[in-house]
Amino acid sequence: MAQKYVYFFGNGQADGRAEMKSLLGGKGANLAEMTSIGLPVPPGFTISTEVCTEFYKNDRNYPPSLAAEVAANLQGVEELMGKKFGDPSNPLLVSIRSGARASMPGMMDTVLNLGMNDNTLQGIIAQSGDERFAYDAYRRFVQMYADVVMGLEKDILDHLLEQKKEECGVHLDTDLTAADWKDLVAKFKETIHSELGQTFPEDPQEQLWGAIGAVFGSWMNQRAITYRKLNNIPADWGTAVNVQSMVFGNMGATCATGVAFTRDPSTGENYFYGEFLVNAQGEDVVAGIRTPQPINRVKDKDGALPSLEEVMPECYNQLVQVRNTLENHYKEMQDIEFTIENNVLYMLQTRTGKRTAPAAIKIAVDMVAEGLINKKTAVLRVAPSQLDQLLHPSLDPKAKKEIIAKGLPASPGAVSGEVIFSADEAEIEAKRGRKVILVRIETSPEDIHGMHAAQGILTARGGMTSHAAVVARGMGKCCVAGCGEIKVDYTTKSFTTHTGLVIKKGDMITLDGTLGQVMLGVVPTVSAELTGDFGTLMGWVDSFRTMKVRANADTPHDAKVARQFGAEGIGLCRTEHMFFDAERIAAVREMIISDELEERERALAKILPMQKGDFLGIFREMEGLPVTIRLLDPPLHEFLPQETKDIEELSKVMKVPVKNIQHKLDTLHEFNPMLGHRGCRLGITFPEIYDMQVKAIMEAACELVKNEGFSIIPEIMIPLIATVKELQVLKQNAIKICEETIAHYGVKMEYLIGTMIELPRAALTADEIATEAEFFSFGTNDLTQTTFGLSRDDAGSFLPFYVDNGILQEDPFVSLDQNGVGKLVAMACEKGRATRPSIKLGICGEHGGDPASVIFFHNTGLDYVSCSPFRVPIARLAAAHAVLENE
Ligand code: PEP
Ligand code: MG
Repeated sequence: MAQKYVYFFGNGQADGRAEMKSLLGGKGANLAEMTSIGLPVPPGFTISTEVCTEFYKNDRNYPPSLAAEVAANLQGVEELMGKKFGDPSNPLLVSIRSGARASMPGMMDTVLNLGMNDNTLQGIIAQSGDERFAYDAYRRFVQMYADVVMGLEKDILDHLLEQKKEECGVHLDTDLTAADWKDLVAKFKETIHSELGQTFPEDPQEQLWGAIGAVFGSWMNQRAITYRKLNNIPADWGTAVNVQSMVFGNMGATCATGVAFTRDPSTGENYFYGEFLVNAQGEDVVAGIRTPQPINRVKDKDGALPSLEEVMPECYNQLVQVRNTLENHYKEMQDIEFTIENNVLYMLQTRTGKRTAPAAIKIAVDMVAEGLINKKTAVLRVAPSQLDQLLHPSLDPKAKKEIIAKGLPASPGAVSGEVIFSADEAEIEAKRGRKVILVRIETSPEDIHGMHAAQGILTARGGMTSHAAVVARGMGKCCVAGCGEIKVDYTTKSFTTHTGLVIKKGDMITLDGTLGQVMLGVVPTVSAELTGDFGTLMGWVDSFRTMKVRANADTPHDAKVARQFGAEGIGLCRTEHMFFDAERIAAVREMIISDELEERERALAKILPMQKGDFLGIFREMEGLPVTIRLLDPPLHEFLPQETKDIEELSKVMKVPVKNIQHKLDTLHEFNPMLGHRGCRLGITFPEIYDMQVKAIMEAACELVKNEGFSIIPEIMIPLIATVKELQVLKQNAIKICEETIAHYGVKMEYLIGTMIELPRAALTADEIATEAEFFSFGTNDLTQTTFGLSRDDAGSFLPFYVDNGILQEDPFVSLDQNGVGKLVAMACEKGRATRPSIKLGICGEHGGDPASVIFFHNTGLDYVSCSPFRVPIARLAAAHAVLENE
């Protein structure tokens, strides 16, 4: 038997199922599922993603058996509908829609009303009894087909339509008559011919295959490629094509079309949320051209526009039933599309609804309480990367706000930035390190790169389900949409508020996506709220995960934040950051410049009390939790004065002529500082530096133990070890200072001395290094740099090119290169444990906060990951996912 490429659905029966998303795409699989569970779905069929793969493999040719299969399935639809495709007296019209495995909103193409021509038009007039509707449907089809299939610039026909409205002296499409539409259809076809040199196809079969080809072709269009890249969707998944009999939401006042979410996608509240338009077709609701009406009055208590519940109560009640059926069936919040044709409800789509991070958490926690899902499922429902959005600040409620406009609270968060009016400019300015807010009349899929680059998005038009709103929520970006109070003018690069205030390109504004407010200037923010549903979910997270999560923190303040975010200790305290303080840097410079040991010791003596103060603060904040402190690591030149005035100042303080200092600076110059005199090499050549630091650590710990009854086990970490010998020498030195200090204070205290593994040689000889090291902490930043031979500081100029061109799947400094660097980590763990079974293993590079890397570290058997305070909850959740995904 030939391979099956086409899957039928209709009349309560379907060839497909919800689980078949990779074959049928999300839309096709769910149309099949909805059909099977008895929901009213117009019949149709899905051409599988395998055809897409074959199409590209075989030079854009279809498998030979496809044509017959499509014909047979089309016949099946005809039989159910009692209509015939292309029949002038009783024609079947179909929609053609793409549908990939992962939802890619608005990225690929759709053609509606397909099957219309001058002959079938008569049948549509007869079926509907509405000439105006029939001509409107016809012109929509010609317009969409010309754009999507024939590749005519969309603006050309749009312009003709605008011209027509002007001629007729009307503002709305709905004011045009049958004769106007008839006239336009003819003009459209003429223009298509004159612009493209092709006649518009009248043959429905030709139309059908043209549209199928266009949908498969759209898989490789630029915006789909960009979207896939941003969302990590592999190109080889391909799209399916859904061919479905048309139902019309635009046949008059008893018709409507809408989109809804089974719960509020912004807040997660458990009420039926949606928007619709009477007498409208397909994309009208999401296109943001007419202002949609709410489906009920749950939130919009005294809004001006009537709700679906009020306009069509029976259909609304039926839709509520559908909502309940879908949630009980999928046990997940759904995003649905529906159409009402002559008071009959049809379901056109259901899919897992995109939601904000707060909504994701609320829905997960609520669904556990409702008995729909268990705690494990709830934890798996929240993507670790999503938490990022939640952990960022919101507007300080006490701050003064000058609200200049109000729009829809499309995607929460609070951000400030310079106003920019084009996606390209937003991208350029963001690359220059500017924080920008992208302001558009409305966004389209062409704008996604700019939306990605911007801090936040503000649109003048469009509802909560507009492109801007949906995409911003998916990206976790703050967005205020449908802000009708502002007038955006692209030519003058400015917008005007309802009070006449003009905001120009480059002006600062603040957006509150939670309230839908636009404010002048920068409004201060406050940190995230970590209790309530978030706390509940994180409690479950912590009960499932086995790997610990610590934080990288260098100050008492960071330590405090880290603890609030649930850090179980500090995995990396970078002591060098403490040296940059204005009061300290002079002493640090003195220490570096000094040629004589004595001079150096004098400078170090000034620094010691300051360092000790830092450690006291950190130990206090982290009471009862482990703290790993790393001894000085970076190349010394990072501390040296560059500017003449700093050099002069240093010369005064040290009473050394400027030229001597300049000479010293010259001798300290390194060609490759990252591989130069840094890390433990400093400790080897200038032991007094490390001695001072160890003393500061131990004095702080001993004082707290002695005077305040703390119990502390300091973890002293030596960076950039390449050979066990280095560690041997430095460990001996450190032990000496530790013991002296402990004896001096007369306390009992344990301490650990360990090392970072951040050079390949250290990983390769981890068994030897473990004879000395009591713990390893993988410095995956340097380990990535040295394994790839890729400079951390210089890779920015070429690494993005590698990623864009698929030479590297991802930036290895962001997500661990599991296949290369990961092998070194795994090997070093094994060797370390073989030598010293009790060795503590952790990681403190940036990868400690990257969800995919965290899962890898769990599977490699590390005891903990350490990451920046804001990423601690992300790492905790990822660590729980690692456990649950393995089950
Ligand atoms: C590392 O190299 O991964 C690390 C944590 O150290 P740093 O980033 O300070 O070099
Ligand atoms: Mg390092």
